[in-house]
Amino acid sequence: MNECLWCHQKLPLRLTWDWLFSLKPLPQNYICASCLKMFEKTGDKVCPGCGRKQDNMNLCLDCSKWQHDHHLLHNKALFVYQQAAMKEYIEQYKFMGNYQLRRLFQKQIQAAITPYLKKAFTVVVIPVDQETFETRGFNQVCGWLEGIEYQSYFEMKKKYGRQKQSTKTRCQRLATKNPFKYTGPETLKEKKILLVDDIYTTGRTLYYAQEILEEKGADFVTSLTLAR
Ligand SMILES: [Zn+2]
Ligand SMILES: [Zn+2]
Repeated sequence: MNECLWCHQKLPLRLTWDWLFSLKPLPQNYICASCLKMFEKTGDKVCPGCGRKQDNMNLCLDCSKWQHDHHLLHNKALFVYQQAAMKEYIEQYKFMGNYQLRRLFQKQIQAAITPYLKKAFTVVVIPVDQETFETRGFNQVCGWLEGIEYQSYFEMKKKYGRQKQSTKTRCQRLATKNPFKYTGPETLKEKKILLVDDIYTTGRTLYYAQEILEEKGADFVTSLTLAR
């Protein structure tokens, strides 16, 4: 019997007839139903651009700005970030490095990715910087993706652009400010990409990744985050 990784209570084993007659391994759960309820889902009414929970389906102000010079990412977010349980989770998993906690949301994230995989999307993870990786020892996004196929097309540049932004052309700005170094295949022609990250905050990170992927010829770039 295993326990809930969040409250450490024993988890009841729920066996279904379907499972008994399937040949699948024992279903594993890592979060109990009452803990899962503490994490607020984004629900049905969200901004179609970034996945922010709101009370209508209109494009939010931030996304209307992104729309000026980017294709909208149409980010899908599973949970609300500005909320105690999720903030605590991110703190313990990402910043304190409790690797066990990757399991808490593996099921939810992988279930959300499945429809994209069926439509032949390539799953690409957003990297962490070298220093964080060295102190923590893992990429929090890869922790959730255990067991499914994903690509790491980016590395975080060691240091980037300290020159005043206003003195550069837009092209220079994009090239120097972008924190990512592309390490993927030469061309992404006709590829559909699903970027996966932990939190959508301003969208800046994901749009930087999108800029590079589109430059490499990707047909379509969208994203999925645990929280928004
Ligand atoms: Zn629990
Ligand atoms: Zn939005």
